[in-house]
Amino acid sequence: MKVIAFDADDTLWVNEPYFSEAEQHFCQMMENFLPIHSTSQELFKTEMDNLDTYGYGVKGFMLSMIETATRISKGTIGLDGIERILAIGKELIHKPIEILPGVEDVLETLSQKYRLVVATKGDLLDQERKLAKSGLEKYFHHIEIMSNKKEHDYLKLIHHLDIQTNEFLMIGNSLKSDILPVLAIGGHGIHVPFHTTWEHEQVSHQIIHENFREVNEMLEILDFL
Ligand SMILES: [Mg+2]
Repeated sequence: MKVIAFDADDTLWVNEPYFSEAEQHFCQMMENFLPIHSTSQELFKTEMDNLDTYGYGVKGFMLSMIETATRISKGTIGLDGIERILAIGKELIHKPIEILPGVEDVLETLSQKYRLVVATKGDLLDQERKLAKSGLEKYFHHIEIMSNKKEHDYLKLIHHLDIQTNEFLMIGNSLKSDILPVLAIGGHGIHVPFHTTWEHEQVSHQIIHENFREVNEMLEILDFL
């Protein structure tokens, strides 16, 4: 193993609960038009439709909230409504960084033995800001903001890092984005589950693969690296 890549959101720090909270605020705001659960489904549908256009991240999420609000209010949401949506998004951007348990110890130890990188989706500026605020930047050789995490995207990253695929290990909370594509190209994956997973990232089947491990918490990784 030469390079260990870490996912950022819900692997290094808390993310999904903040998005869920923002979504909850949005759905409450739209309660005059639709029940909370239906607004949530409408928003998810808009996000999925927009994924190829906006990519992942908070700004695309904000635009999808505006589009959903306009649609379900049949255009009556008004400028005031749009301002409230922008405020929900900006609050999300400025949430404090809450580093997950064991992360700092693991990075401190592993950075002495391996080249560490961050491999994350999301908006460039937002992820850079979060990394700077986290104080974890010093452990990483490189931060890669990826527009997607498919096999092809990982191959590009590995090529860039000038290593072989079997010298690459990815650690993350999403089986779909962090683990499955990496195993498929011959890399290694360690899954560190987080209690909340975005619907889009959910995988229902069990993974059995010689290059795959699952741990209950981040610190367990040090037992075998
Ligand atoms: Mg993640």
